[in-house]
Amino acid sequence: MKFTVVGAGAMGYRYGVLLQDAGNQVEFVDTWKPNVEKVRQQGGVFVSRDHQNRQLVPVKLFYPEEYHGNPDVWIFFTKQMQLADFLKRTAHCFNDQQYALTCMNGMGHVEKLLKYFKPAKLLAGTALVATVLNGPGDVDFIGARGAGTMNLANYTEKPDEMTHKVVAELKKAQFNPNLTTNFMGTLMAKVVFNSVVNTLCTLFEITMGEFASYSGADELSRQLINEAYDVCERAGVQMLNTRQAELDSINYVSKVANPLHYPSMYQDMSHNRPTEVDYINGYLVKLGQKYNYAATTHAFLTHLVHLAEHTRQQN
Ligand code: NAD
Repeated sequence: MKFTVVGAGAMGYRYGVLLQDAGNQVEFVDTWKPNVEKVRQQGGVFVSRDHQNRQLVPVKLFYPEEYHGNPDVWIFFTKQMQLADFLKRTAHCFNDQQYALTCMNGMGHVEKLLKYFKPAKLLAGTALVATVLNGPGDVDFIGARGAGTMNLANYTEKPDEMTHKVVAELKKAQFNPNLTTNFMGTLMAKVVFNSVVNTLCTLFEITMGEFASYSGADELSRQLINEAYDVCERAGVQMLNTRQAELDSINYVSKVANPLHYPSMYQDMSHNRPTEVDYINGYLVKLGQKYNYAATTHAFLTHLVHLAEHTRQQN
């Protein structure tokens, strides 16, 4: 199958390199000049696993304006605030036959993708795996091969033949995909997860394990989960998990699966890049407002993250 990854960052490299390894034809599109130039100069991207076995993997990486590929499936892994620009700059390559797949965090990407791709061609989900971009052309896949899982669903909630082919390729590449027929429920489960762990770990500059070791962690999580679920219920979202199962999943990931990991929002903050908080806690606030519900704790946290971003920029 032919895939083109848009956004050659941490996750874009992980999906692209592993799909390429599994025998697919993969190309990459990126706009960050230091990354594109470094990959061209070194002849590929350096890939490590848990800081070990750093190896150069040859990849084909293009700027959008010079790209003319026609993949079966586009894979979008930009940050939420970068997506509109990437879409505009790559649009000359899009056509009605192509599928779009994304497992970006937060919400905001779906409407943007639907401006370019038909609803029946859109597959979105969540990636439960950690990846770190050390710098231009240098990525670290956290966890052993086959670590982590992902959920995905068709926007139409009706899997077609191509969906099953994509899932088969993701399986071969050991992403452990789980296909659901609940689009919003699948995406919102990760939004709720991130609205707790990503945001709190980022604010306090701590790992997920450090967060989970605090005796009041469950109480903090419950307050945010309850508010998020109150919003989702008003919006008619069929949640995949119960509130208790969401809390259990936060505890499992923080204590067992990834205790040493700093969430991706922290990585943005520590590199003085803007975070995706407006698309996570901020999205819950806006969705709540639509249904006359004030998600005050999520609003407060959104401000705190922006205050932290602002403070870093002043220093
Ligand atoms: P990333 O920041 O590594 O890459 C995204 C884009 O930003 C790429 O185009 C990259 O070239 C560019 N970029 C990277 N560093 C930059 C810098 N310093 N200055 C300018 N541009 C830069 O993003 P990611 O971690 O791959 O995340 C993509 C999406 O996947 C996001 O929605 C994220 O929340 C989600 N996600 C990430 C992880 C993870 O562990 N990294 C896990 C699950 C989901």
